[in-house]
Amino acid sequence: MSLVVTGTIGIDSVETSSGAAEGVMGGSCTYFAAAASLLVPVRMVAVVGEDWPTEHESVLESFPRIDMAGLERRSGSSTFRWGGRYHDDMNERDTLFTELGVLEESPPPVPDTYSDSRFIFLANTHPSVQAEMLEHFPDRELVVADTMNLWIDIALAELKALLARLDGLVLNDAEASQLTGEANLVEAAKQICDMGPSFVVIKKGEHGAFLHHPDGMAVLPAMPLDAAQVVDPTGCGDSFAGGMMGHIAATGRSDLATIREAMAWGTVTASHTIAEFGLAGLQSATDKSMQSRFDRFREITSF
Ligand code: AMP
Repeated sequence: MSLVVTGTIGIDSVETSSGAAEGVMGGSCTYFAAAASLLVPVRMVAVVGEDWPTEHESVLESFPRIDMAGLERRSGSSTFRWGGRYHDDMNERDTLFTELGVLEESPPPVPDTYSDSRFIFLANTHPSVQAEMLEHFPDRELVVADTMNLWIDIALAELKALLARLDGLVLNDAEASQLTGEANLVEAAKQICDMGPSFVVIKKGEHGAFLHHPDGMAVLPAMPLDAAQVVDPTGCGDSFAGGMMGHIAATGRSDLATIREAMAWGTVTASHTIAEFGLAGLQSATDKSMQSRFDRFREITSF
């Protein structure tokens, strides 16, 4: 079942209590595609500027199941850049800068070869760009999006228009509260579903994730990790979504039990991302490491 993602490719500068990384590969599309590709082939639609480092291209190419036909390199433009600093409590971070660059220009073209895509993930980018992408996928079966505080702040009307066209939304707890004005996450999830999506997944960092679905609810913890395994949480949300959508696309289903299991794959995938800066944690993931962590996660969550 064909999965496509659109979102950002970024050049990130990140500081955490484990150290700092300058100019590493990041972006919502990047983390999602790398993560999903551990489970299924994935098509990407994204744009970078002429300053995009060749080493970053090699990192993407190291994920053989990512189809890069929809990656545009635009001359005369600058790649999206983002800087963030995490607090000692790594659930909290401050954005130090966001330079939209090429994201302020027209969106990248979608290759004709992608038009039969069935499973669509709209990773974080401007909600108008997310909405415009939908027109390119007439055979879409399931559309899920992510969003974040910046877009709730500066593009709320566009975001609300997008919500009406979604099957699912993935966002973190602070964003769910910001979007609805509701501190209680069950209430916030219900209100978000009233805006359009039939299901919503609320991520809670190291405290796991919560699913509100028409057939019921589900909660999963995060993977318990030693301090040494927690280096940089950047991209964990996108990696969680990548693992989750990878499983949904692989099964072709979106019932409550399937999404619950998909969230477990998302959790396992994100546990690889957090172990290193940038994409390195996902690069060292293998079928074996994914399966053994999945088995372990199942063991520690069942009772
Ligand atoms: P996450 O930690 O899952 O929220 O993802 C962080 C990644 O998203 C970083 O690699 C950034 O390059 C990228 N990012 C940061 N801010 C934005 C934004 N406003 N829109 C799209 N992508 C962003």
